[in-house]
Amino acid sequence: MKRRAAITGFPVAHSRSPLIHGHWLAEHGIEGSYEKIAVPPDAAQAFYGDFRESGLVGCNVTVPNKEVAAAACDELDDAARAMGAANTLWLDDAGRLIGANTDGLGFLGNLDQTLPGWDNGLSHAVVLGAGGAARAVIWALLSRGVKTVVIVNRTYQKAADLQVRFGADSIARHWEDLEELLGKTGMLVNTTSLGMSGQPPLEIDLRNLPESAIVTDLVYVPLETPLLARARARGNPVADGLGMLMHQAVPAFERWFGVRPRVTEELRALVLADLGRAP
Ligand code: NAP
Repeated sequence: MKRRAAITGFPVAHSRSPLIHGHWLAEHGIEGSYEKIAVPPDAAQAFYGDFRESGLVGCNVTVPNKEVAAAACDELDDAARAMGAANTLWLDDAGRLIGANTDGLGFLGNLDQTLPGWDNGLSHAVVLGAGGAARAVIWALLSRGVKTVVIVNRTYQKAADLQVRFGADSIARHWEDLEELLGKTGMLVNTTSLGMSGQPPLEIDLRNLPESAIVTDLVYVPLETPLLARARARGNPVADGLGMLMHQAVPAFERWFGVRPRVTEELRALVLADLGRAP
């Protein structure tokens, strides 16, 4: 029987996931499908609660449904439990709904591919932002053994909430402390929406940042954000956000369709071309 998966959330029209999974389905000659299913917030509990009725083998979950989807699962993987949010669901052989969060794995997969050895000796990282994407990045960095992850957010309380969620190796600090913090870090990650097309710029002073510190931005429209451009110009190793988007899809595809796909230059070019066509 044809295996069907989908991106679910609201809205889903802009999602690049069908392009990524569609590319892999064609590449591996798998007779399956990956659809877009709009699930508005008021329908989310019923949709994920009755997932067996959907006819899907599994799905991705995007904003604003990741928390509701996690709550509907019979079991969660470590990442989804730690984040309180699931982005990948599937039915196991017993018909139980299992939830995972692969965003953090996508973040790690991207860095492993573009900056091999990036985590050697890395003990201190600064994460800007305290939303859904920040949770994934903090989980990922702590799971790789980074000793101290400092969370800096416009709304301090949200950073403090994440410190409670992730424990003593995560530390919430105020935005005003950022310049001083950059002086002793080995990595800077932007997980805010600042710098994205149509959003305000990310205005931070990189003067104190060591030249060896890795700079990565989750924003991928534009691909080379002003933050990455400035960091690259002063010699910092940089990684853009597009790789994370593609790498988070790898474990989901493998789970639903039984083949571990690869993130290739061909796939990257395909997604980039699609971003160029976007309104
Ligand atoms: P979110 O939950 O809405 O969080 C947004 C974050 O941005 C919050 O920390 C918010 O701070 C901060 N922010 C927004 N406007 C700001 C401003 N004017 N000044 C200072 N801070 C501001 O969103 P999210 O899901 O975490 O996504 C964040 C970004 O990551 C988006 O651009 C998204 O496209 C990108 N992303 C990329 C990937 C990828 O695969 N590359 C994956 C996930 C997300 P407050 O708490 O103070 O509001």
